[in-house]
Amino acid sequence: MLAAVKTAHEYLDSLRARKLRLFVDGALVTSPVDHPKVRPAINAVAATYALAHDERHAHLATSHSDLVGRRVNRFTALFRERDDLLRKLELQRALGRLTGTCFQRCVGLDGVNALFLATHGRGDAHARFVTWLRGVQERDEMLNGAMTDPKGDRSKRPPEQADHYVRVVERRSDGVVIRGAKIHQTGAANAHQILVMPGQALRPGEEDFAIACALPVDAEGVTMVLGRQPSDERRGGPDAGNARFGGQECVVLFDDVFVPRDHVFLDGDVEACAELVSAFAGYHRASYGGCKPGNLDVLIGAADLVTRQNGVRRASHVRDKLTQMAHLTETIHAIGVGASAKGKVHASGVWQVDTVLANVCKHHVTSLPYEIVRLAEDLAGGAMSTLPSIADLDHPELGETLRLVAGGRERASALRLIESMAYGAGSVPFRIECMHGAGSPQAQRVVLEREIDWDAKVARARVLAGLDPDPDLDGV
Ligand SMILES: Cc1cc2nc3c(=O)[nH]c(=O)nc-3n(C[C@H](O)[C@H](O)[C@H](O)COP(=O)(O)OP(=O)(O)OC[C@H]3O[C@@H](n4cnc5c(N)ncnc54)[C@H](O)[C@@H]3O)c2cc1C
Repeated sequence: MLAAVKTAHEYLDSLRARKLRLFVDGALVTSPVDHPKVRPAINAVAATYALAHDERHAHLATSHSDLVGRRVNRFTALFRERDDLLRKLELQRALGRLTGTCFQRCVGLDGVNALFLATHGRGDAHARFVTWLRGVQERDEMLNGAMTDPKGDRSKRPPEQADHYVRVVERRSDGVVIRGAKIHQTGAANAHQILVMPGQALRPGEEDFAIACALPVDAEGVTMVLGRQPSDERRGGPDAGNARFGGQECVVLFDDVFVPRDHVFLDGDVEACAELVSAFAGYHRASYGGCKPGNLDVLIGAADLVTRQNGVRRASHVRDKLTQMAHLTETIHAIGVGASAKGKVHASGVWQVDTVLANVCKHHVTSLPYEIVRLAEDLAGGAMSTLPSIADLDHPELGETLRLVAGGRERASALRLIESMAYGAGSVPFRIECMHGAGSPQAQRVVLEREIDWDAKVARARVLAGLDPDPDLDGV
């Protein structure tokens, strides 16, 4: 075993050691690792640990850390060179393809890098953060990146409706007390620590909401509630579509939780929090150029499989639709790669993605996968939505007739996978995450409008229209 890199097995064992307060469907769950609605999401996280020990993927799944002086799991590592951004994307694509779902560690990874640069040059905040990060790397911990507040009435600022935001309610000499909730928390119940960050830029006067800190998932006062997903009663069963792997989102409640000073990285520094939120958005929007193409590989594969089973694979419109699905998938991936390849180094030493391309990447992710799903549904035919249970296909009395009229187990399994990703349990960490994860579409448009150099475009248009002299190609 590599030092500081857990195996999948060690990860599972480490989860059992927590005293998590988790509710599922109205009941307190004593053993989340063994719960049928929780386990598929844990399996997806476990894949991030397994790949670190797989010789085909270890070069992507691990990275040298100068903080601890050895290789660590990439999901805890800093982007120390441009290639780290690219390797992250390739790793995400591999994991997206291997699990067909969200493997839940990217928010933590992007949050760690964003906090590293946002605390840089801000007194002892950086040293506290680095010490904490060293521990995360040593123990190879899974982090829940907790940004999104409930927000209530979106037209109101946090101080006007404090209950809808995580905020500091008490400052003590040894730490702070936080209260509130974070919602849509990916992989929270599968994590070791919660990395709390503000979900939006804050203004002077909003200092109590400008809190970035870390706490164990089982800290006193923390309660998690698992989100429902469509068809989640099928979890683990033959009709699940993808029985082994799944995503997870939780509501996380903070009922006056004490966070010791060592784990408080930013408190009241609205400027640093603005830098944090902006850097995180860049990283996370580029991330979608890795994981979602990986998920789409699976969807394309399932659609292709059904067309083979149905004997239509060579029809020209079928080939064209599959090619279009792959073309759109590679478009997303290419923009994510571009955002990473055009990255720049920050004064702190970590690399940042190109903001414009990262936002273009995520913006495409809010629409192109919907078109790809549409094409998959076209190719799959109506059976993806009307097929009886696989238990009926296996039934001793009905099975033979049913398999003749509705198709056999192989076809049913392929259709169930498409169904799951299109609008079943798998659609939450795939399709809906494409829309809202890392910000809804308008959030990217706002950044694009702000970042694009409109005046430079107008200036060049004026030159070529003959309105201004040419400063660049004079005499050509
Ligand atoms: C599957 C999934 C996984 C996620 N994982 C995580 C996670 O791990 N960690 C985390 O912190 N967050 C996570 N998120 C949250 C995600 O970042 C948010 O869903 C996203 O930022 C949108 O916020 P919202 O859901 O509150 O929607 P809203 O912000 O309410 O957006 C809904 C609509 O309202 C519009 N709108 C919002 N505010 C305004 C306004 N002021 N004026 C005009 N229009 C407005 C938006 O443009 C959008 O069209 C996840 C979300 C999903 C769906």
